[in-house]
Amino acid sequence: MKSLKEQLLQAGLKATPNPKAQNEREAISKKKITETIIHQEQRNFCEECQQVRPDVELYYHRNPTTEAEWICVKCADRLKIADSFRQTAQSDTSIKRMFRREHGATRPADEFKSVKPQKTKTEVNGNR
Ligand SMILES: [Zn+2]
Repeated sequence: MKSLKEQLLQAGLKATPNPKAQNEREAISKKKITETIIHQEQRNFCEECQQVRPDVELYYHRNPTTEAEWICVKCADRLKIADSFRQTAQSDTSIKRMFRREHGATRPADEFKSVKPQKTKTEVNGNR
């Protein structure tokens, strides 16, 4: 009689060659990379027009015409993505408080206070 562990292992091995499952895993890992980048550095590359722009922000929109999430103001306006979908205020334009949307209302910069956390000096403990 096979143990439960063996049965699970067999089921797992059978599921692995499924190409759909592989695609899903890729999508997840891509998301993880994006999240890491957010915390590390400023993003200024628009995924929609493929250009470096000073006003690129992250939008969690539901616009079916694009899969881009990091989008410049020009493209966001063109795609009619409301500013309420914007998640960040990390661009140079936002930092200078010059960020302004043509399409709809612009969210106030105060709503994005958590975006730029100040680095806290961590004490190095030499005594072990
Ligand atoms: Zn763009």
